[in-house]
Amino acid sequence: MKPIERFLRETDRVPLMPMPTPLHPMHYQPSGKDVSLLIKRDDMTGVGPGGNKIRSLEFLLGEARSKGASKILAAGPEQSNLCALTAAACAKAGLDCELIINAAEPARKEGNLLLEELLGTKIHFLGPCDGTVRNRRMEELAAAYQSAGEQVYVVRNGATTGRGALGYTAAVVEMKRQCEDLGIGRMTIFAPGGNGGVAAGLIYGNQLMGQPFRIVIVSVEDDRETLTAHIRSTISEAEEITGLPMDVSVEQAAEITDAYRGGGWGENTKESQQAVLSFARSEGIFIENVYTSKVLVGMMDWIEQEKVSGPVCYLHTGGLGSLFAQY
Ligand SMILES: *Cc1c(COP(=O)(O)O)cnc(C)c1O
Repeated sequence: MKPIERFLRETDRVPLMPMPTPLHPMHYQPSGKDVSLLIKRDDMTGVGPGGNKIRSLEFLLGEARSKGASKILAAGPEQSNLCALTAAACAKAGLDCELIINAAEPARKEGNLLLEELLGTKIHFLGPCDGTVRNRRMEELAAAYQSAGEQVYVVRNGATTGRGALGYTAAVVEMKRQCEDLGIGRMTIFAPGGNGGVAAGLIYGNQLMGQPFRIVIVSVEDDRETLTAHIRSTISEAEEITGLPMDVSVEQAAEITDAYRGGGWGENTKESQQAVLSFARSEGIFIENVYTSKVLVGMMDWIEQEKVSGPVCYLHTGGLGSLFAQY
């Protein structure tokens, strides 16, 4: 057992997922290319509509519980996947959850907001304001509850923190074992980069597990340099938590592309909109416009350009809750 595996086994964690999530071949296989396409079903993480944030929440809620917290705060935009998944995870873990959302309360709730309503989650609607203001309001609310004697745990930065990233470090261990069981050779994984938490956990885990995978991160938001800096700082936080340093740079450990992000977060491209449709129609699996479709476009382009060969895995990070509010 590697030191990182021991750490992950021993650190505080709330089990939320039926593990492992499926890893299976895709129906679509490109002809004339030396690749076999697989999909890792992290849209099926077992709580709410599923998605990557559940992996982070196992470790974040684990920390919350070990600190004796009874109330969890999370913040995000109107259709935040993190917010709905935190609310659902807290329901399962028996923790009280409140959300801070920088939008006005709509008359009709759709997508993730509808799920939060069904969960009975208390939501503080701030009206339109930027993320910095929203996050400050969350800290103020946390401080107010604390001084009233309540133990509060804050889920910061969309769960992209050193501890949150451990979710995808654990996913590397899980996928390595799955590939060994299925007899899959060295696999390339395509994954999204938003705040960079998924990417940080994957890259860090991959290094500490002896590089079982080649990792390609498709930015959906920032330019390559900015995303790389976010990933680096999140990995540094993870290193501090585990005491296990990653001995190479982010640039050496993974490939990061910003060629498919279009106008940035939430700005669809023509190709990403088409990808949502073609994926549903060939796989019977739904992806969405903000994250997962851009990764698919990037992966297909790399295959077309023959920049990858062998087993190629599309990491489906979920986002189904938001899809219903994207049309
Ligand atoms: C949050 C999210 C991501 C991106 O995660 P980061 O850790 O912020 O890079 C990707 N896909 C979906 C569906 C998400 O909700």
